[in-house]
Amino acid sequence: MHELTGKAAIITGASRGIGAATAAELSKIGVNVVLAARSESQIRHNAELIRSNGGQAEAVTCDVSNYKDVQGLISHCESSFGRIDILINNAGVIEPIGHLATSNPDTWAHAADINFKGVYYGLRAALPAMMAQKSGVIINVGSGAASNPLEGWSHYCASKAAAAMLTQCADKEAGPNGVRVTGLIPGTVATEMQVLIKASGINPVSQMDVADHVDPVLPAKAITWLCGKGAAQYAGKEVSLRDETLRKQMGF
Ligand code: NAP
Repeated sequence: MHELTGKAAIITGASRGIGAATAAELSKIGVNVVLAARSESQIRHNAELIRSNGGQAEAVTCDVSNYKDVQGLISHCESSFGRIDILINNAGVIEPIGHLATSNPDTWAHAADINFKGVYYGLRAALPAMMAQKSGVIINVGSGAASNPLEGWSHYCASKAAAAMLTQCADKEAGPNGVRVTGLIPGTVATEMQVLIKASGINPVSQMDVADHVDPVLPAKAITWLCGKGAAQYAGKEVSLRDETLRKQMGF
C-alpha cells in the first residue's frame, strides 16, 4: 500500500494533458480523485476510464476563474470522499498569444483570471478544511516562464509569476497548520498547449522540436511524488523537473 492510498485529491485541468495524466497516476496508487475542467464530456470519460480500472473517480465541471465553481468543487470532494487531502492547481491557458501593445484587455485579463486567480481560488477554498484537519498538500503547476520573459506571453509569464508567489505565501501561512504548498515547473510537455504554441510561431518555444517535449506522464509522476512525505523539504518552493538532483530523488 502507498502512503497516499485512500487520500482524496482534486485535480483541476483534468480533461487532458498533465491534469488527466496526474489523475490517472494518483488513482493507480489508490488515491480517490475528483477531475475538474470545463469540458464535461472529457472529464466524465477520463473518470469512467479510472473507474473501469478499479479506481474511485468523480467528474466535476468547473471553471477555475469562477470562485463559486471552485467552492462547489471542494464541497463535491468532501461529500464524495469525506475530506480533501490533496489539491493539484493545474488548470492553465496559453491563449491569447500576442504582443502586449495590441492585446485585447478582456482576453488578456481572462487568461490571468485562470492562471493566477484560479490558483488563489483553489487555495482560498481548500485551505480552511486542510488547516482545520492539520494536514494537506497543494501542488501548483507553474512554468519557467514565470522568471523568463517571452515575446507574446506577457499574460502567461506575469500570471505564472504571480501564482509562484502565491505558492510561497500560502505555504508560509498554512505550513504551521500541517499544510504543504509546493510549485512544480514541468519543463515543456507534449500537450495541446504546445500545439497552440507551435501554431503561434512567436518566440523560441514555438520553434522547438516536438520530440524535445516530455510525455505528460513524467510531470504526473513528479506531482504524485511531490504529494508524498519524502518531498516535505520542498514546501514553499517552486521546483523544476529539469533539476537533475530532483529527478534522481524522484527515481527518473
Ligand atoms: P492542456 O493540455 O492545454 O490542458 C490544460 C487544462 O486546463 C485542460 O484540462 C483545460 O480543460 C484546463 N483549463 C483551462 N482553462 C480552465 C478553466 N478556466 N477552468 C478549468 N479548467 C481549465 O495543457 P497542459 O500542458 O496539460 O497544461 C497544464 C498546466 O501545465 C498548465 O497550468 C500549464 O500552464 C502548465 N505548463 C505546461 C507546459 C507545457 O509545455 N505543456 C509547460 C509549463 C507549464 P478545459 O479546457 O476542458 O477547461
